[in-house]
Amino acid sequence: MPLREECLWEKLTPQRPDNTALRGEVKVDVCVIGAGFTGLSAALHLLEKGRSVCVLEAHRAGHGGSGRNVGLVNAGMWIPPDEIEAGFGEAVGSQLNRMLGAAPALVFSLVDKYNIDCQLRREGTLHMAHNAKGEADLRSREEQWKRRGAPVELLTGKACEQATGTQKIAAALLDRRAGTLNPMAYVTGLANAVRGLGGQLFDHSPVTRLERVGQQWSVQTEQGAVLAEQVVIASNAYTEGDWTELKRNFFPGYYYQVASVPLTEDAAQAILPGGQGSWDTRQVLSSIRRDQDGRLLLGSLGNGNQKPTWFLKAWADRVQQHYFPHLKPVEWECTWTGRIAFTPDHLMRLFEPAPGLVAVTGYNGRGVTTGTVVGKAFADYLCNGNPQALPIPFAPMQPLAGVGLRSCLYEAGFSLYHAGQCLRIVI
Ligand SMILES: Cc1cc2nc3c(=O)[nH]c(=O)nc-3n(C[C@H](O)[C@H](O)[C@H](O)COP(=O)(O)OP(=O)(O)OC[C@H]3O[C@@H](n4cnc5c(N)ncnc54)[C@H](O)[C@@H]3O)c2cc1C
Repeated sequence: MPLREECLWEKLTPQRPDNTALRGEVKVDVCVIGAGFTGLSAALHLLEKGRSVCVLEAHRAGHGGSGRNVGLVNAGMWIPPDEIEAGFGEAVGSQLNRMLGAAPALVFSLVDKYNIDCQLRREGTLHMAHNAKGEADLRSREEQWKRRGAPVELLTGKACEQATGTQKIAAALLDRRAGTLNPMAYVTGLANAVRGLGGQLFDHSPVTRLERVGQQWSVQTEQGAVLAEQVVIASNAYTEGDWTELKRNFFPGYYYQVASVPLTEDAAQAILPGGQGSWDTRQVLSSIRRDQDGRLLLGSLGNGNQKPTWFLKAWADRVQQHYFPHLKPVEWECTWTGRIAFTPDHLMRLFEPAPGLVAVTGYNGRGVTTGTVVGKAFADYLCNGNPQALPIPFAPMQPLAGVGLRSCLYEAGFSLYHAGQCLRIVI
């Protein structure tokens, strides 16, 4: 079977709404640009507080990273909590650690409250040590999170083998706060909830211009405009057009995934038997999870659209055979890629370029929970004006130098690493 270029989550979310484009003028309290986790969480929490909201989406809800990701509902950031506090200072760092540590619980509560059918599993995640250095890193993370009272546990020996389903991993950090979901179904559920609360959501409405008109903002599309007191720019890594400086504040990187056909029940159950989603400690990491139908999903950093399908298959075969050699050869069904907004220090940026205008970027590949949290924080801040609502303070917009060059160098590094894996130079 040839490997199809298709996002599995789209196929598994058949009830995706396709709203009409904005025509004419709409007046609301808040206009949100971008219908991903950030924009829709902002819209939902603003509506809950009684604000009128209009969301403008260039394509359809979930077109960006929110519809294409691995679906790991992570607690915390990539960077360990001690380093966050060292970097931001204790007050801000501990607030960020607290908010993102509790972020999966926020996602779970929205799923429950709005009855979102997104194949959510709350069994946690497993960060898997692929070598001794990785194990030392996980031991340190375990100690840091335990000091903060988080329910994490480093599994070793038989317990680790039973949880991961592989003998190639010596230790795995189980984070019981976390989980997995179908991200397209989650973002679709948020969009439905926004509409259910009376929010207006226009698809196929790329913003082309944003300007101050008296005390209001005019957000323009090709065929219409929204007049609003406040605006949330939530277009992140997928920002289109030159109406904002945002896209000069991150450099784009990519992440691809390859999904198998549904495996037999025994074969599927042998992979991550506890139902957790996982990723390993490699610098060019591999993510590993199963979906509701027993497909094996593997992913890694890099742009799959620029690689031949035989290469993607060879890489997926290699990772599968390395970690799960007991499986019969796996048939790969589909592959897709998404764009990630990276920052040089791997930390997100919040901006308030003018009063009543807020923006965010740079989740660095951790946005299921972060986007949900930031959207809610923006809603709180826009309603009460209290910056304490935000996970980190606003920063000035600061265009990055050498964005194109950075992206190219990263991509080249990822490809070399994957080629090394296929050739068994990298084990
Ligand atoms: C392949 C991949 C795997 C990932 N895996 C994980 C994971 O397992 N766990 C995790 O936590 N995070 C993961 N991430 C990161 C996460 O998906 C993103 O950080 C998150 O989805 C960002 O959400 P967002 O709402 O901020 O932006 P997006 O979801 O990108 O939404 C932005 C929206 O803005 C729209 N837009 C752009 N320009 C305009 C315009 N001019 N007018 C109107 N609308 C516009 C876009 O069409 C898009 O729909 C992954 C990302 C990728 C790409």
